Parts: sequence; C-alpha cells; structure tokens
Amino acid sequence: LRDGRPARQMPFGPDSLTRVILVSSGKGGVGKSTVTANLAVALAEQGLAVGLVDADVHGFSIPGLLGIPAGTQPTRIDDLMLPPVAHGVKTISIGMFLRDGEAVVAWRGPMLHRTVSQFLTDVFFGDLDVLLIDMPPGTGDIAISIGQLLPHAEVLVVTTPQTAASEVAIRSGLVARQTGQRVIGVVENMGAFSLPDGTVVDLFGNGGGTAVAEALSEAGDPVSLLAAIPLSPSLRAGGDAGHPVVLSEPEDPAARAIHDLAASL
Ligand code: ADP
Repeated sequence: LRDGRPARQMPFGPDSLTRVILVSSGKGGVGKSTVTANLAVALAEQGLAVGLVDADVHGFSIPGLLGIPAGTQPTRIDDLMLPPVAHGVKTISIGMFLRDGEAVVAWRGPMLHRTVSQFLTDVFFGDLDVLLIDMPPGTGDIAISIGQLLPHAEVLVVTTPQTAASEVAIRSGLVARQTGQRVIGVVENMGAFSLPDGTVVDLFGNGGGTAVAEALSEAGDPVSLLAAIPLSPSLRAGGDAGHPVVLSEPEDPAARAIHDLAASL
C-alpha cells in the first residue's frame, strides 16, 4: 500500500456513474458477507461490471467465499493495483495484504482507515456499474469513516428474523443515515426453510426484517424488505468451498432469493 505519496482522487465520488452499495449489519454472524459475495456474483451474472471491497477488516471473509486462493495479491502497476477477478467480480480485501500469520487485530484505527480509503483510491477497478462494500458489522469507526468517504452511497441492511438482532440492525441503518447515506432496503437472512415433508423450520423466529424496515421507515424515508433469504445448507457449503451457490445451485431457494434481489436493485 501507498506510503507518503499524495492522495489520488477518489473515483467513486458523487459525480461517478458507479452505484455504490454498502452492505451493513448491526452485528456479526448474520450472513452479511455471504450475502454480499453471492449478490456480487449474481449482479455480474446479469452482465454488470461489478467491484467488491471487503471492508470487514477484522472479520474479512470475502476471498474465501469467492474461492480466491490464499496468497493471491493484486497486480501492481506503478502505484496502482489491479484487483483479482473471481466469478466475474473485481475483488479487494485486506486479506490480500497480510503477511503469513499477521493479524489485523494488531492494527490501529488510523491504519485501518487509511487502508480502506486506499482500497477506494489506489485500486484500479475501471468503469464499474456497481461497487459493493462489505462493511464491518456495527457502527464503529470504520463504518463511520467509510460513510464520510462515500456520503452518496446506498445502504442495504442485513438482519436475521430474530427480533433481538433487529434492534442493532436498526441502529446501523440510523447511523448510515447520519452520514447522509440512503438506506435502500432490508435483507432478512437465515429465515424459515421447508423440509422435504413440508414442515417449516423457523430456527431464528420471524419478523425481524419487517421490523427493521418499519422502524427505519418511521424514522425517515420509506424502506422496504427487499429479500427474505432462507437458511440453506447449500449457501453455507458454497461459502466454505468458495463456490457461490448462486452459480453452483441457482435453483436453491436461498440462491433464488439472492438472484431476485440482484434483479430488483
Ligand atoms: P457475517 O458477515 O454477518 O459475520 P457470514 O456471512 O460470515 O456472516 O455468515 C456467518 C455464518 O453463517 C457462515 O458460516 C455462513 O456460511 C452461514 N450462513 C450465512 N447465511 C446463511 C444461510 N442463509 N443459511 C445457512 N448458513 C448461512
């Protein structure tokens, strides 16, 4: 990464033709990264030029989810970096800059901020239709500094159906609004799924996605529930293997919900 050289103009400012969509959640473990990776691949499948910035610096998982081999680095040309392309998605992650065994947890806030802002300025994505950003969970410093860098970005809030999870998700939407961003919708993940005998299993309850959409609508502009993604062993296994389910099993109910979400954006 750049040291001491002057900052380059950020290509995703308000005049850019690229749609910037931040994927946020109130807490970790709700499937934000899994949804982001699959959504990026589904958008690329539609023929769009898609970039993906993994800004979940402490819990980065995008390279694994997209099957990018460990040790893969961007290609350097002078002081620009060309991002690796996985399943049609130009992807950059902090995981590509760590030396063996180095842990990001040891990095201080300003260094993390600088790194994420350099992802936006020094990585050459070319002309993109959509740039997705996998945000760190919650409303911490990085979320706020990305918000300040990209005040015109749109935000998708991911939550589970559990009402306890929805409260923190609402807060992440409210904080995004404070930096001027527009919340374009809620994605409920890990919803009910059906067994072959027809039994419906709602492990995490229901109603969380609707509750978040209603609370954000009451506090500002209307926000709707854009997708309800069921629990899916195939979605989970595809993530573990680096084979996004939207490609390997497009008929899986979770994959279908993500393709529909991509088509609706
Ligand atoms: P986050 O980015 O919110 O921390 P992850 O995307 O890492 O969450 O997902 C957490 C775990 O849940 C992962 O093991 C992932 O495979 C699994 N997971 C995510 N969504 C689903 C789903 N709809 N069905 C089954 N497992 C899921």
